[in-house]
Order: sequence, then C-alpha cells, then structure tokens
Amino acid sequence: MSQDRCIYLDNSATTYTDPRVIEEMLPYLSEIYGNASSQHFMGRQALKAVDEARAKIAKAIGAKPSEIYFTSGGTESDNWAIKGIAQSKVEKGKHIITSCIEHPAVMKTCESLQKQGYEITYLPVDNEGIISLDDLQKAIREDTILISIMTANNEMGAIQPFKEIGAIAKSNGIVFHTDAVQAVGNVPIDVVKDNIDLLSMSGHKFYGPKGVGVLYKRNGLKIGRFMDGGEQERNLRASTINTPAIVGMGKAIEIAVEDMAKNNAHISEIRDYFVKEVIANIDEIYYNGPKDNSKRLPSNANFSFKYIEGESILMHLDMAGIAVSSGSACSSGSLEPSYVLLSIGVPIEVAHGSIRFSFGKNNTIEEAKYTVEKLVQTVETLRKMSPLYNK
Ligand SMILES: *Cc1c(COP(=O)(O)O)cnc(C)c1O
Repeated sequence: MSQDRCIYLDNSATTYTDPRVIEEMLPYLSEIYGNASSQHFMGRQALKAVDEARAKIAKAIGAKPSEIYFTSGGTESDNWAIKGIAQSKVEKGKHIITSCIEHPAVMKTCESLQKQGYEITYLPVDNEGIISLDDLQKAIREDTILISIMTANNEMGAIQPFKEIGAIAKSNGIVFHTDAVQAVGNVPIDVVKDNIDLLSMSGHKFYGPKGVGVLYKRNGLKIGRFMDGGEQERNLRASTINTPAIVGMGKAIEIAVEDMAKNNAHISEIRDYFVKEVIANIDEIYYNGPKDNSKRLPSNANFSFKYIEGESILMHLDMAGIAVSSGSACSSGSLEPSYVLLSIGVPIEVAHGSIRFSFGKNNTIEEAKYTVEKLVQTVETLRKMSPLYNK
C-alpha cells in the first residue's frame, strides 16, 4: 500500500473477506480437494461441506436447502433468473416488469430479451428511489410473466417495499424475482413470508469470497437451464461447483445474519455522523436517496456536489488514502452520469458530481471524521478551479 492511511468506504462494490471465512475455506483449498460430484470418499467430504453451506444459506432466508442453487455470483443469478423464466413461461407471454434503477446485471439482461421480442416495462421511481405499488399494479397484464425488482439499490441504498411487491405478484399469479445482492446480511428476508420466488445473492457483498453466488428458486417453479453441460445442481446449473468459495459463503452468511443487528447499529451510527457532518460543512450539495433511514441501507451515503466532477473528487480522496466510488462502480470509467441518479431527478450536470460512500463493519467514527476533513478540503479546492462556481 502506497498510502499512509487506508480508509475503505466502498463496501457496496465489495467487502473484505472475514478472517473467520478464510479460515473455514482453507482446508478446501488444500487437502480436501475432491469434486463434490464424485462418489468416492474425497468427493463425499467435499459434498458434506457443500451441503452444510447450503443449509446455512437456506436458513438465512427462510428457504429449504433444496431451493438453493450455487452460481458464479450475483450477475449469473440475475441472468439465470430472468432468462430462465423468459424461457419457461414463453407460452404464457413475453411481458416483464422491472424498475429503471436495477443493477446492470438485470438491466442489460432485460435489454437483451427486448431484442429477442420480449416487452419490458421499466417502472419509474420517486425522488427517493422507491417504486410505486400503484404503478406496479397498473403495469400488470395478461401476458406478464415476471416481476424483477431489486431488494435494495447499490447506488443510493433505497430499500423497495419487497414484501408488498411479493404479495401483488402472488395475487396475480406472476413470478417475483428480487436482486438481493445489496440486501442480504443487511435487511431481514424471509422468502416464504415475503412471497419471493427467485432471489439472487453474491458472497463478496457480505464479507464472503468473490466469484460465488446463489440463486434461490422456490421448489416447483420451472426455470430454463442457463448453461448446458453436466448434471450438477439437480441438473439445472452445469459446471463443477466451487467448494472452497461455497464453504466460505456459508460461513459468511451465518456470521452476517447472527451479527446483523449489531453491525447495522454500528454502521448506521458512522453513516449518520458522516451525513450530518457533510451537510453541516459543505454547501450546495444533494443528499441522494431516502431521507428516512428505515427505507435506506445502513451502509449507504450518496452525495452530489454541485459545480465539480465526481471523478476528480474520487482521485483527490484516493490520494488521501480514502477509497470511494463515483456513481456506480460498473459505470465509472464511462463519462455517462448515473442512470440511477437521473431516475430520482438529480439534474444531469449535478449527477456528474456524485460520490457513493459505503460503510462497512470495520469502519470507525474516526475514519468518518478524517474523510469529512479531506472531503471539505477537496470540494473547496476543486470548486475554486471550477469555471461554474463563482463565489
Ligand atoms: C454487486 C451487485 C451485483 C453483481 O454481483 P456479482 O457477484 O459481482 O456478479 C448485482 N446486483 C447488485 C445490486 C449488486 O450490488
């Protein structure tokens, strides 16, 4: 590390791997290397560990172990859920309802189906990033086969009324998929009570390993295969499963659920302090997303700073050893402002000056304090250089 300090405030992009998770994974990276599909003792040892992880993951969301399918991450789970239903329900229709603030893993999947003749309704959101249940109700048609609405947003933390969405989907006989990648470990979820048919999660967003995820699929729901090949995962998801990563994800979700209340209290205390200080010390800013904390992920703070560029703020903070994200990680590097922020009504020129701070369980108030200090200096320096700012 070249910096003297390392303050990591990009926990929505990924989290560090909890040391307890690494410890749990280690034997499966060395001596217990059998293929979990093999019938001999080496395979059985791996399978036993995978089954234990499957049970932990199922328990965390109120599902049955037989409803948990391992994937390579959140992106694959989203692709599989949506394309799989498009395939299995094509007789019923080709209409899908989603929202205009979904992660690219859902957005691009819908766009790709659109090119194949599916019709997509992108529900708008209010200025806090929440869909209207009334709009949802009105969008439902005879040929609607799927409602895919994220549990919580990755850019500005808005938590959707997913229980109510599930109830509406159920009463209309429509499949409900939710991208819960940002929500798992932060928001209590019960797939039975919340009427969720399909749910995507990803290990590296809750202090587990990268490159591993889950698609929960309600038993009895028919879905097309996403990859052709071997008969792994009850003949629905081909390819040798990643035993060490699955074991790690199982441990990570167990810790996340057990510590949820404690972590959320700690993280939201830091976030609330940070938000209060930023608002008190910097003028002409937008605090994007829900103002009511009950509708917002405890980790998230998203600001737009008028007259300056998010990328420049990011670079200045980077030099000070503070890791943040401008817009969404997936669109950073592109000059397009975030479609999520535009959807909640942030003016295009203001959206360019946006930064997401996402706090994690290891952050401290001291770090937040230092970040505010550096942020105040950065915004002042950049605004002095900005031709748009005349004060
Ligand atoms: C990170 C993220 C994904 C993608 O998950 P990967 O495991 O990185 O593929 C999907 N949806 C949301 C909301 C995310 O935050």
